[in-house]
Amino acid sequence: MKSASIITIGSEIVEGIILNTNAKYLSEKLTQSGLKVKRHLSVDDNLDDIVEAIKLSMRDCDMIILSGGLGPTEDDKTREAVAIALGRKLVLNEKLRDSIKTRLSQYHKYIAANNDRQAMIIEGATIIPNKVGSAPGQLINHEGKILILLPGPPQELIPMFESVLVDLKIDKEFTTISMLFFAIAESTLDEMIVNLSPDPAIKIATQASYADGIRVRFTCAVQDYEKANELAAKLIDKIKDHFIGFGDTTLEQTVVKCLKEKNKTLSVAESCTGGMISSRIVSVPGASEVFLGGIVAYDNSVKSKLLKVSDEVLMKYGAVSEQCVVQMAHGIKQLTGSDLAISVSGIAGPSGGTDEKPVGTVFLCVVGDGVEKVTQLFYPQERNIFRMRVSAYGLYLVLKALNCVV
Ligand code: ATP
Repeated sequence: MKSASIITIGSEIVEGIILNTNAKYLSEKLTQSGLKVKRHLSVDDNLDDIVEAIKLSMRDCDMIILSGGLGPTEDDKTREAVAIALGRKLVLNEKLRDSIKTRLSQYHKYIAANNDRQAMIIEGATIIPNKVGSAPGQLINHEGKILILLPGPPQELIPMFESVLVDLKIDKEFTTISMLFFAIAESTLDEMIVNLSPDPAIKIATQASYADGIRVRFTCAVQDYEKANELAAKLIDKIKDHFIGFGDTTLEQTVVKCLKEKNKTLSVAESCTGGMISSRIVSVPGASEVFLGGIVAYDNSVKSKLLKVSDEVLMKYGAVSEQCVVQMAHGIKQLTGSDLAISVSGIAGPSGGTDEKPVGTVFLCVVGDGVEKVTQLFYPQERNIFRMRVSAYGLYLVLKALNCVV
């Protein structure tokens, strides 16, 4: 199996000012492409450190991806470091210099001379065009190894790397089946998989997240794919009502997909989640076809004025109650004319809890299509974790109401 090393360059990374999302993205893509990512190295904008990191990676990796340090300023040292590590020259590419100048002159009157640095190409390198920013990337074949230089900003790095990946034609030796499950404990899932006596050729990994549930990955050699596929089918069959989907699917993507398939519309009335359910749905392209809208009815006055929750319910049972979420769901459904509606009201804390309804208590209600179902949950956690878990459960309940998880 071919191996790769990722070198992320920049003081902002090593000083903890920015999150190293490039390393995560590149690792994920390389692994999916069938490469073994051996290591991540993060180094300051220091020439000697970058050269050392490249030399270390050249010893045992087939592919080295470098991100950052391709800008026009003095602290952008990646080109020079790669040239030194490989013993190659840096050459000014005049055509590239002119095109960088033309591009910059659209936005600036004065073009500083140091922009020419971005047109310095390592001898023998192929230029990777940058359609978003000015710094081009470079690809070098060196003694059977591939080095890829990419700019730091993720919005530039991602499309450039994807364009390169298409051309690299890496032979896939390994394959992965990824599945998302919800409303089941990671330990329970793990036990179920063990009870299915998986073939040792299949590497099993589970990953839990508050936002989405449990992602299970079966990784195996390409020739063992059928074994992994059979295991996946058996597992899904055992817990169909917890299976959300394959691949990198999210709860919100599945909700939008299922609403489209069933030709249904949805509206949302949220209190304690503060719009998180709506926001997650809207993050999915094409949500407008199925999502009519939502109201954040945080204060009781909004619950009563806009969602027509009765004073009697608010006084007798309180805003965090089965009776309140039922009226909230009917209220938003009526207001928007949606086929389905979901409502949520709970105590996110840290204050506001009582003996009867402690912090973490939450009620959700789904109405529509002959369904009126209330669910009570208890997530006594930090308020934003609480919001994330409740919004995830809300999306899951919509899937259940649509019979998309059965
Ligand atoms: P530029 O021409 O924009 O300076 P560059 O290739 O020199 O590009 P850097 O200066 O190293 O890139 O980084 C520019 C910005 O890109 C950083 O301020 C940061 O916002 C983002 N960035 C850099 N490296 C990473 C990384 N590893 N993960 C996420 N974002 C990054």
